[in-house]
Amino acid sequence: MQNIKDITETSHIISISGIIIDVKPTYEFKRKDGTKGYVKTIIVSDITGTIRVALWGQHAKSIKETDVFRLIEINNGYVKKGKFENVEINCFSNTVITLKDIDENEIREFLAPFINIKDISSEQKRVNVQGTIVKINEKRIVKNKNNNEVNLQSFTISDNTAMIRVTCWGDNTKKLVPFKEGDIIEIINAVVKSNDNYEIELLIYSDTVIKRKIGLRSNYGDFVPGTLANVVKKMQDIQTIENIKEGTNAIVQGTIINVVDKSAKLSLYCPQCNARLEKSNQKYICKTHGIVKEPIQDLEIEFIINDGTASLIIAANKRLLAQLINIPPLSKKENLNIASQLYEVLPQLIHLEVEITGLVTLNEHLGHFKMLAQTIEHIQYNDSIRRIIQRTFV
Ligand SMILES: [Zn+2]
Repeated sequence: MQNIKDITETSHIISISGIIIDVKPTYEFKRKDGTKGYVKTIIVSDITGTIRVALWGQHAKSIKETDVFRLIEINNGYVKKGKFENVEINCFSNTVITLKDIDENEIREFLAPFINIKDISSEQKRVNVQGTIVKINEKRIVKNKNNNEVNLQSFTISDNTAMIRVTCWGDNTKKLVPFKEGDIIEIINAVVKSNDNYEIELLIYSDTVIKRKIGLRSNYGDFVPGTLANVVKKMQDIQTIENIKEGTNAIVQGTIINVVDKSAKLSLYCPQCNARLEKSNQKYICKTHGIVKEPIQDLEIEFIINDGTASLIIAANKRLLAQLINIPPLSKKENLNIASQLYEVLPQLIHLEVEITGLVTLNEHLGHFKMLAQTIEHIQYNDSIRRIIQRTFV
């Protein structure tokens, strides 16, 4: 028996043993002589990978959708370059196929391990992931390079180690139809792609399988089973802007609605925690780390976020903002003259959804709160997470 990952175009005739993870409908065609032919595609997985298998003639009729997760042994399959990607196995009349029922534990032995979403990198070509669907975006119709209209639909899944965007093109959008937000799924054989912003995303190809999670198979590696516990805990820590209090450290989430014009000023920050430093007796003091000998000087900008309960002014330095938008390298020595260059790129901040931690201060002259940001994170899942939590706890 051959490992699936070792099969190449030059393998010619091979034998494999694996489990069926997907069965596609039978396709009927007419031969030149007028007789009818049948072909059906299935996806077979072993611990090393997955492969498309084309079943011709009688073989097409002998395997049904109910055979998913049964063990299949293929003897004398013919390897050829696939129509879509990589190689595939063709089973003709002299190929011998046997099927066997196996239990949950045996199924595990034929599935490549699931990877934690945080560990996905552009070095991997294909991955298996599992997690909760936190958001399904509306299906859109876009034009491809050949000017044809194609469907495009994306969704986000989370496995508690991270979240990732998954995109389906064309007919592959149909694979999403059975699922809704909150479902726990497995994606087998997803394609890893880095997009224009160098963010990693996953693509659903014709040989990618999306299934509802089965049984116990979340016990791979350090994968945390698909509960929403961490996300929920975090949501409880997040405060609404109308409820924040002066002098406390808080976490807020909201949408950036405006950048305060001409707010740039130079400030000094703690290199350990990025807190803005207070000057006292010629020394610079961090509330957490005490006297700071080598403070970092940076430009501070103010912008406004709104979370649906109220608006809040955020003071954040340029180093933090560089995590959200591309800030051109301005100058080694920070000074106020470069602030005008900075203002050209700052409008990109508007409409971003962010999570910010920092100290809440009160501007006594104006009577409003200002948060001195220590961390900023770009988020895109605000509403859907809230919906899931409402469904889980209400
Ligand atoms: Zn500090």
